[in-house]
Order: sequence, then C-alpha cells, then structure tokens
Amino acid sequence: MGMRSTARGLKAALTTFNCRYTGLRTYCARMETKGLLFRQLFEHESSTYSYLLADAESREAVLIDPVLETVDRDLKLIEELGLKLKVTANTHCHADHITGSGLLKQKVFGLKSAISVHSGASADILFSEGDSIKFGRHKLLVRETPGHTDGCVTFVLGDQSMAFTGDALLIRGCGRTDFQQGCSKKLYESIHQKIFSLPGNCLIYPAHDYKGQTVSTVDEEKKFNPRVTKSLEEFTKIMDNLNLPKPTKIDVAVPANLVCGLHEI
Ligand code: FE
Repeated sequence: MGMRSTARGLKAALTTFNCRYTGLRTYCARMETKGLLFRQLFEHESSTYSYLLADAESREAVLIDPVLETVDRDLKLIEELGLKLKVTANTHCHADHITGSGLLKQKVFGLKSAISVHSGASADILFSEGDSIKFGRHKLLVRETPGHTDGCVTFVLGDQSMAFTGDALLIRGCGRTDFQQGCSKKLYESIHQKIFSLPGNCLIYPAHDYKGQTVSTVDEEKKFNPRVTKSLEEFTKIMDNLNLPKPTKIDVAVPANLVCGLHEI
C-alpha cells in the first residue's frame, strides 16, 4: 500500500464507468474530496446554480453566484453547516437575475463581495486573471473567460478538479453573445484556451441549466457540446442566429448588479 496521502488540499475521486445506454465511457461525479464541503444550489425562476464551497476544518466558505430570492435559504444552510461565509463571488454581471451579494453583505458581518475588474461593477474585491480567492486551506483561481460579457470569469479549484464556468461554458451549450459586450469570437477562444486546457476529468459546473443537467466534464464538453466542437466560423454563425428573446429582467438586473444587487456595499 504505502499510498497514504500526505498531500494537503483536495482530492476529487472520479469513477469511470460504461454508460448502459450509450456504451460510452463516462465519469461519475462522485466526490470524495477530502476537506472540502460542496453544495450545488438551484434557483428555479432564472434556472441559476449557486455553489457553496467550504473548508471542512476552518469552516471558511465561499458562495458563487448567489441569487437575491434565495439568500435566506442559503444563509440557513450556511448556519446549519456551521460555516463562516467569507466571500460571495460572481462569475459575471448577470442579466437574468439580481445577485444576492448585497443582501448577504447586509446580513453577514465582514462578508466581502467579489467580481471581475472588467465587469464594470463595484465590489469589495475586484479580481483579474490569476488572482485567487482563499477559503481555509483551499482556493479558487480566476481564469478570465470573456465573450458572454467582458467581465466573465471561470473559477478553478486549486487542484483543478472542478471549474465554475459561469455563462461562458454551459452543459452542451454556452452563454449568449448578443448583448452586454457579447462577442462570439472572444467566447470561442475563452472556452478553447482557458477551459478546454483544464484536465479532461475536471468537473464543469455552469451558472445555469434549463434541462435539469447538473454537472459535466471538460472531456464531455469537448466531445459533445454541439456549439464549441464546431469551427470558429460555424460557431459564430450559430451564435449570430440564435434569435433569443431579451431576458425579462435585464433592465432591472444589470443596473442592480452593477452595484452588488442594489444594496449598499
Ligand atoms: Fe449571464
């Protein structure tokens, strides 16, 4: 044996198996991460995922992409788990819902809000490429992934076992590029250079899903994503012809999110 790990930090164990429907070898997102507490939370109106990550030892926690309407639910869970919420971090300035960051700051003493310096929004921490958000022994590293908006980032867990891709890369999809500084070429390059360069078994956790999917992997998206597996030219054509309706909350959500959810910072 002699394999007793003395490594600090996280170890996400992924089990491979052959899917009985497709016969394809795939990954089971069975987390055996040591020392990390992880919860995926859902807000149904905007189909938004928020993610709670905490160090099991120090109890320090980070909440990614909180939603205004679910602040009380999230705080209840944080309290039940005995966590100390240190940072609330947004992957970008959202157009479809109001962030819970401002309200959380009013309710949690010492909590800091964080967003990209390129988002144009105000927050306690304005991060950029290569910065890290620490919680106990763990950290999230910032990779800038613009294209959906100029201030979009992907948060990568220190051991590269998980990536929180915001609206850059979705499961079998990607964020739209037809408003808020959207640029399909930028998005294509961000996904290929900054996300697809992560290990194949790195778990992909997006900001939204509209079909009930919860998690993917880099390898899975490289193979099956119907948009980003195309050439840049084809991708641009797809993105230019989506003809999506404007998000119903955009006129309220964007101005609010530029000031941390309209609540005082
Ligand atoms: Fe978005």
